[in-house]
Amino acid sequence: MCEIKSEPWSEEKFKKWYQERPIVTARDYVNTLVPRIKALGERAGFSLEKYGEASYTTRSNTIVSDTIDDAVKKTSKVTHDLFRLLIGDFSQDRPCYIVIGGTHGYEKGGPLAALKFAEKEAAQYTDRFNIVIYPCLSPGPYEKELRFTEGRIDINRDAFLDGAQSQEMKALAKSVKELHTRLFKGDLNKKFAAAIDLHETPFMDIAIDKENAEAGGEMFELDIFPKGLFLIAFEDDLKLANKIIQNVRTEGHHVVDDDTLYGSPNHGGILIMSEMGPVTGRVRQLFKHFTTACFTTEYCDVGLTDETPDAERVDPQMAAIRGMFP
Ligand SMILES: [Zn+2]
Repeated sequence: MCEIKSEPWSEEKFKKWYQERPIVTARDYVNTLVPRIKALGERAGFSLEKYGEASYTTRSNTIVSDTIDDAVKKTSKVTHDLFRLLIGDFSQDRPCYIVIGGTHGYEKGGPLAALKFAEKEAAQYTDRFNIVIYPCLSPGPYEKELRFTEGRIDINRDAFLDGAQSQEMKALAKSVKELHTRLFKGDLNKKFAAAIDLHETPFMDIAIDKENAEAGGEMFELDIFPKGLFLIAFEDDLKLANKIIQNVRTEGHHVVDDDTLYGSPNHGGILIMSEMGPVTGRVRQLFKHFTTACFTTEYCDVGLTDETPDAERVDPQMAAIRGMFP
């Protein structure tokens, strides 16, 4: 990839980056996702818990007089509730599976698949398992179709058990710790069975890569734009990773078959963590503290945009979620 030399962004520019992006009406968190989340909370065997809040600022150009010169930037602040759904009888000592969406706000398939799974299928597993759904970790970036949150922070580089900077990851770390303590009565030898964090690699990544170069951030390795679904897994979790990928294939979805995945070897649709070089702050790493096996899905398509029909992005993710269960 070519090197682009430019002045690093000022602190002010990073701060304003989020604020100046508008909310996309069709993605409005309160009007589109929250009603579905709350409706699920009403179902028998489902319980809805608010685990935190996240506040976001938006600036809008408001004309206060007849002349355009008098246009002033007005800011408005919104605070969104962060929710998790607990599905099953949590008083029982059953294996617990976790599904996570909306780590990267612009990747709409994660929240939509997590909610569809909760709505259509989760109940049929509850005679054997407990299930936790985090439908949308970053509501602000979700409704603005952004990868990054306030301050242009990538929350999937900030998922630390202690010391996260972002409000979303501080809340998540606290929430996972608390749930583990509640379920396993503080016994750190006991763990959740598995967690899956649902991601996409869409068309927008090409533009983000260019902006990253300008802002002095991380570059993606998208010399080949992958097509289909792949999984990022820890080496210890390869058995379950293979089962998940097998299920995606069996259900008729394309698994990425390039020789490499983000520049690392492709093991039949699986990118092994230890081969990707040192990475930190990923949501799968945060969950790994409390979970036996942890995965990230990537559904990739250079043609994937907000206009892509929901089923196209949701169905492969659903197949991966199903593949996680025994
Ligand atoms: Zn992502």
